[in-house]
Amino acid sequence: MYMSRLYAPTLKEDPAEAELASHRLLLRAGMIRKEAAGLYTYLPLAIRSLNKIEAIVRDEMDAFGAQELLTPIMVDAALWEQSGRIGAYGPELMRFKDRHERDFVLGPTHEETLTDLVRNELRSYKQLPVNLYQIQDKFRDEIRPRFGLMRGREFIMKDGYSFNATQESLQETYDDMKRAYANICARCGLKALPVVADSGQIGGDTSVEYMALADAGEASLVYCDACGFAADDEAASTQVAVTEGPGDGTLQKVSTPGMGTIEAVSKFFGFPENGTRKSLALIAEDGTPVVCIVPGDHELNDCKAEHLFGEYHLMTEEELEENHLHKGFIGPVNLPEGIRLVCDESLKSSTKWACGANEVDYHYTGACPGRDFEVDEWADLVTVVAGDPCPHCGKPLAGARGIEVSQVFQLGTKYSAAMGATFMDEDGKEKPLLMGCYGVGVSRTLAAVVEQHNDEHGIIWPVSVAPYEVAVVPLDVNDDLVWPAAKAVVDGLAAEGIEVVVDDRKERAGVKFADNDLMGFPYQLVFGKRAVKGGACELKVRATGERSEVSLDEVVAKVAELVRSQRA
Ligand code: ATP
Ligand code: MG
Repeated sequence: MYMSRLYAPTLKEDPAEAELASHRLLLRAGMIRKEAAGLYTYLPLAIRSLNKIEAIVRDEMDAFGAQELLTPIMVDAALWEQSGRIGAYGPELMRFKDRHERDFVLGPTHEETLTDLVRNELRSYKQLPVNLYQIQDKFRDEIRPRFGLMRGREFIMKDGYSFNATQESLQETYDDMKRAYANICARCGLKALPVVADSGQIGGDTSVEYMALADAGEASLVYCDACGFAADDEAASTQVAVTEGPGDGTLQKVSTPGMGTIEAVSKFFGFPENGTRKSLALIAEDGTPVVCIVPGDHELNDCKAEHLFGEYHLMTEEELEENHLHKGFIGPVNLPEGIRLVCDESLKSSTKWACGANEVDYHYTGACPGRDFEVDEWADLVTVVAGDPCPHCGKPLAGARGIEVSQVFQLGTKYSAAMGATFMDEDGKEKPLLMGCYGVGVSRTLAAVVEQHNDEHGIIWPVSVAPYEVAVVPLDVNDDLVWPAAKAVVDGLAAEGIEVVVDDRKERAGVKFADNDLMGFPYQLVFGKRAVKGGACELKVRATGERSEVSLDEVVAKVAELVRSQRA
């Protein structure tokens, strides 16, 4: 491809609307253009990278026995009525009517379509398992479309659905898909972690999200380098390591005038915040007043609290007063009648609590559960933070942010039961099909790759998903030495099956370097007059910035070898 013909309008300035590196660089490198909120046109360079991501996805799906099909994007709303999702999905679902006033939706995901497809065709256990997938545009009227391709309203997804006769068979397909998804991330050059999104009753996971690590990610994670455990910090459980409070173990009331924060109390006692106990007063959904106690350096986790107390809220000033509680000085000892005391499990074996005394300007030290107060319930209450012990191996967890690029899910009989998709089992009984669903955000993956691979000059494509593998950059295209030398190398690389773009533009060297760096081609071959006279060109590795002279005789073989070794 000649750069002079390439439709890739680059931008010199950072677009004001782009917060994320991927959004900014995909716009600047002339790869995407915004049509409207959450709607983007993929320009030729982006299509090339997307095609490569899709090829990797197809390769992995096919390797694990899945078969590609393609369903309509328009879905009869009646199917969504049957599954019961039409109401539940809410305003993200794009709906419209055809000319006969029949209701349709634009598929945000296709469980209904696939269940409908197979319910009349898969009738016997002998036909199972079947795993079907497609790659197509999906539509979600996101409340806040943003970050370019990360959260679009129309985006490319690979969605797959398996139909199995037994739980063992579903587990097998599900485990295969997990392997495929890990491979897809690795082959696209993504550093990603499988994060358990949901645990099943038998202890195993029933849903895993693949999180590409990136500071700009919307998800907050903890993970363990030692054993590979990873979880969303909202969902993770851990036994927080707690230090004991000050004192000799007897209950002591201490005057702490004006010290209504953990920070002040911890400073006053000369003790780490972890050695103090944080008390939070709330009203549960059923109206019960509750005091929760957690280690001083941790926060009450909203999800976990909702699990325990329903739609709760923290007590207002008036509610505190009604319950005879004093903000900043709440604690477990002498808790007013009728208040339920729920404490974090990690505090169970701690016997010297430094905590509020339920009296303004006083704290206790040495408060001991069972002796000085009774706990109504021990529960997992806190949000896990970096440094907490791994729930599997006990080593300290690290914190990170992530972009969800894909997800695998065991659906069980949710859709098949609702939509009457049954099969005849070996024992002659009619049973609902067991289902799994498996999604890869293809366009989001493209953005995630850029998010992980860039510098101040632009994108740094991994070879596996680069729009072109090599850029040949003749500095003076009119020179009768430079141009023929460059052209010979281009032809040589093309003959080796290497994807080359030739910067044939009559631009200054600086402009060419900047654009090629911005577009992020992994290898750049620069042809200057002096080098060519000496029988050489310069090889620049985009990722490292490393430059070296390579003789014109050897450059084709050398670069072809480098590229091939890094293809997915
Ligand atoms: P999120 O929590 O980010 O909204 P989701 O859980 O709703 O995603 P799924 O229904 O699991 O997403 O869809 C499968 C994959 O499709 C996701 O892992 C993600 O990579 C991609 N995806 C989902 N929503 C969008 C979107 N609005 N824009 C781009 N990609 C998306
Ligand atoms: Mg998801």
